Amino acid sequence: MEQYAVPIANLIEQLSKLPGIGRKTAQRLAFYILEMENLEAEKLSESIMDAKEKIKMCSICCNLTDIDPCRLCRDDSRDRSTICVVEGAKDIIAMERSREYKGEYHVLHGVISPMDNIGPSDIRIRELLTRLSSGEVKEVILATNPTVEGEATALYLAKLIKPLDIKVTRIAHGIPVGGDLEYFDEVTLAKAMDNRREL
Ligand SMILES: [Zn+2]
Repeated sequence: MEQYAVPIANLIEQLSKLPGIGRKTAQRLAFYILEMENLEAEKLSESIMDAKEKIKMCSICCNLTDIDPCRLCRDDSRDRSTICVVEGAKDIIAMERSREYKGEYHVLHGVISPMDNIGPSDIRIRELLTRLSSGEVKEVILATNPTVEGEATALYLAKLIKPLDIKVTRIAHGIPVGGDLEYFDEVTLAKAMDNRREL
């Protein structure tokens, strides 16, 4: 790194913290940014700060949103008796693409992962249980990713929710183990929802 001027080294350092960006790609991006028109570079940095400032967590479903409650929670055409629980806000986009599902969502913002010191209180489980206490919800669909942590989190939630006399289902996995909901095509996701099984 010493061969770079400090501001370039800093830019590379920050970019390499992004997921999926290795040192080499970070270098390439840094030099690309340096070649950009000033106005374009400004737009990039402003859009980062703008998103950081304006995007909040929906007070109902914990989705990321610029209005609270979010658009999905405001939409009266959604079926309020079903909540689909997902790991991240980007999973909602994937689910909505499948056009199969018309219920509500709940975003956990992570999964339980003892290896990474992430326990049940570190993700949005409390908020989910608060929603369930209204008595309106008849089914909770657990759509965490089919990873070890995603499965463990689904089982943990099923244990908590079943005593509340709410049906708990898990999406079926024609989905490869270790996969990420975000990357499944809409047909696979629609199938996974159709073939969900009761836990
Ligand atoms: Zn919401």
